[in-house]
Amino acid sequence: MMPAARSAVGVDLGGSKIAAGVVHPDGTIGNRRRIALPSAPRLVDELVDVIADLVSPDTAAVGVGMAGMVRWSKGEFVWGPHSPITNVPVRDILEERFSLPAVVDNDANAAGFGETLLGAGRGFSHVLYVALGSGIGGALIVDGSVYRGRAFAGEIGHMTIDANGPLCACGHRGCWETYVSGPVLDDEARRLGLGDSGADLSAAGFAGDRRAIETLQRVGRSLGDGLSNLIAILDPDLVVMGGAAAVAGDLLLDPARAAIASRLEGAEWRQPVQLVPALFGPEATMVGAALLALQAEVGLKVASG
Ligand SMILES: [Zn+2]
Repeated sequence: MMPAARSAVGVDLGGSKIAAGVVHPDGTIGNRRRIALPSAPRLVDELVDVIADLVSPDTAAVGVGMAGMVRWSKGEFVWGPHSPITNVPVRDILEERFSLPAVVDNDANAAGFGETLLGAGRGFSHVLYVALGSGIGGALIVDGSVYRGRAFAGEIGHMTIDANGPLCACGHRGCWETYVSGPVLDDEARRLGLGDSGADLSAAGFAGDRRAIETLQRVGRSLGDGLSNLIAILDPDLVVMGGAAAVAGDLLLDPARAAIASRLEGAEWRQPVQLVPALFGPEATMVGAALLALQAEVGLKVASG
């Protein structure tokens, strides 16, 4: 007999860490592991070790969200500006090692799927997920499915904002994520002597520090400038903001909302697009990757409409 509610191991393999957890079909998380991102030769072995620590007889599947370009149909990590590895058949490696079904997707796709299934986007048909991590990750969920284009849709952080702008990790200039990202907020915190991270900057802002608030307003306006482009193209029901944006909350999102209202074509003729923090916050990719894996294996479905 098939148990009613088996769990999956969900993994967030980002630009600086591997975070994994046992995720139940309702989105709750049991045991967790977290390690700094290993260098290229050790990365896949250490990914396998982290997962092995969490696999149990209750595990139905393994889901991995990776920062960068992933060929979903093959479960293959191709390339990413924040990743040390290229062309690795991650899904096949995990399925062979654990004798369990595995899925491998872009980290934002996984998070956007999870947020739409059980999080801040629940009940909406057209959800844009935007996460501030090592760069800006994006995913578009249409009627409960991730829109992938041919394979690599959603690389929104590399929209050109200024062709002569700062150099991006991808090798081009003036990408959106050179103005807004987790590391941009980390750098601002250090520049102002307010700590080492965007979380420190946000904490100072919530405590009323004027410089922190003004910095978050400036970065928030850049966030809104890019979002107004995406909203003009996609017209989603709402935008779910993950990663560092979920931590900064309205300190960052209010100036983004103001920028959208002033920049979006015909804004006064539209219903305002809601901008909401991710319910699963920094764990959205871990949870979403596990739910993608469970969806494939136990038929977990997104409620439509
Ligand atoms: Zn770029």
